[in-house]
Amino acid sequence: MLTIDGSQGEGGGQILRTSLALSIITGTRISINHIRAKRDKPGLRRQHLTAVRAAAKISEADVSGDQVGSKQITFHPRRTVPGDYRFDVGSAGSTTLVLQTILPPLVLAGGRSTIELIGGTHNPFAPPVDFLQLAFLPILNRMGPSVTLQLERPGFYPVGGGRLRVAIEPATRLAPVAILQRGEILRRRCQAVIANLPDHIAERELARVAAALDWPDDCLETRRYEGNYGPGNLVTIEIECEQLTEVFTGFGRQGVRAEAVAGEAAAEAQRWLAAEAPVGEHLADQLLLPSALAGGGEFITMPPSSHFTTNRDVIGQFLKVPLSTQPVSENHWRLTVGS
Ligand code: AMP
Repeated sequence: MLTIDGSQGEGGGQILRTSLALSIITGTRISINHIRAKRDKPGLRRQHLTAVRAAAKISEADVSGDQVGSKQITFHPRRTVPGDYRFDVGSAGSTTLVLQTILPPLVLAGGRSTIELIGGTHNPFAPPVDFLQLAFLPILNRMGPSVTLQLERPGFYPVGGGRLRVAIEPATRLAPVAILQRGEILRRRCQAVIANLPDHIAERELARVAAALDWPDDCLETRRYEGNYGPGNLVTIEIECEQLTEVFTGFGRQGVRAEAVAGEAAAEAQRWLAAEAPVGEHLADQLLLPSALAGGGEFITMPPSSHFTTNRDVIGQFLKVPLSTQPVSENHWRLTVGS
């Protein structure tokens, strides 16, 4: 039994998700202690519990400690079972983080799977759907599998009720990829998404991003969800380059002005544009696991976040493959997988 300390490094949910995924893939029994010890409300929240149960379902695992609030679980997987699954977070908790847990085993499973996920689709502190569709999945798919993700209905905090549908054609193994530069910028778009909120919110957000990035009007769009959605608001900045697409997001929330929400996304995009490193902060921590499973490859990213170093250390507890992170200049770090 491998014991994982959930309070190491970042001390958040990523330790749980990466450990569950790798427990299934490597067939390792695990015990995870001090789950989410460094978060305001430590232990399993509904979203994490759904991730644990989803992981158990796809691997016919025996689990103990799977209750809301639990700070310790044991997990004994049997085998990855591809199939047609439906998981409901039962709150506005993030569906994409549930997906992050079960996607790695299912892309390496012996057959195709479909997953329907119900809950939040655009949550702060989680990859929004647009990020997965445009930034993460195209790179994962370059490694061999074919994963498509459709947003059938958006779900925003606190109402939730969003729906995602995922189709997975697995690969026998993941192939290494190298992402060393981003290439020319081919397309730029900022979308202000509003659900049951007045148009002026989107207008002010687009104006703020246009001013910060000096982008023309034809890069700016409003996406309105009308009907019984939301309320909800986010700003996404998409930058498509020859080698990859990056997506930066500001999440609207009560008490935060539209200009500030847009400013957060714009500041993140500006940092990435100025650094000229292809793989941005969030994409870097999310590409670690598939890259380690591929057993090779490399990418250039920005100075590593604590999410990145924590995820790297957790992966190192399961897989022997060396993951070395070296600075190559002030703003560029190179991740090299394998020796
Ligand atoms: P944790 O805080 O440990 O639950 O992990 C959060 C996960 O969500 C990490 O994989 C982050 O890279 C990811 N994440 C958080 N915010 C964003 C964002 N704005 N865009 C993409 N991914 C994000």
